[in-house]
Amino acid sequence: MIHEIFPVGPLQCNCSVIGDEHTREAMVIDPGDEVDNVMAVVKRHGLTVKQIVVTHAHIDHVGGATKLKRLTGAPILLNQNDYALLKMLDVQAAWVGMKSPGAVAIDASLATGDQVRAGSHVAGVLHTPGHTEGSICLYFAPEKKLIAGDTLFAGSIGRTDLPGGSYEKIMRSLHGPVMALPDDTIVVPGHGPLTTIGEERATNPFLSL
Ligand SMILES: [Zn+2]
Repeated sequence: MIHEIFPVGPLQCNCSVIGDEHTREAMVIDPGDEVDNVMAVVKRHGLTVKQIVVTHAHIDHVGGATKLKRLTGAPILLNQNDYALLKMLDVQAAWVGMKSPGAVAIDASLATGDQVRAGSHVAGVLHTPGHTEGSICLYFAPEKKLIAGDTLFAGSIGRTDLPGGSYEKIMRSLHGPVMALPDDTIVVPGHGPLTTIGEERATNPFLSL
């Protein structure tokens, strides 16, 4: 599996480019900004982007999706419960002092049980509301790797005080599908360093509540 993780934009969202080393097919997860950098990684590995997957509709995760779609022709996939947030990207841009990226159109909604793929590398979608109503995580079972969006961070969890956020729901998502994963699962959070499910089970103060 080709997996490049690099921060994009002023809020340093972790963007992932995941590719199949044989078919050269790829998905890009959370192209929040700096699409030129994303495309440079794609080209360096000789990849063809087949899917643009967004963990939730906050501007720092979705801001570059339309530009990336224009460059690659790949569909944008996002859970439909974040449509409301997607319609207020201008307002979100003003909050964080970013330029509005314009409208983002969703090609298909992702829900629990759906799969996304980069060639032979397949991830199951976990709908994990709480940070936003439509937040999802992606679990690559063979590789034991979780792309967590802003649901789980090293030593912390996603904030729930923004529109659509719910502390009760994020705790249900974490104690449900997320912490049910094996301890040696590598977690790629939406911001900051990588961690593992076991490390967070043992040390994350929010998970002992
Ligand atoms: Zn967020």
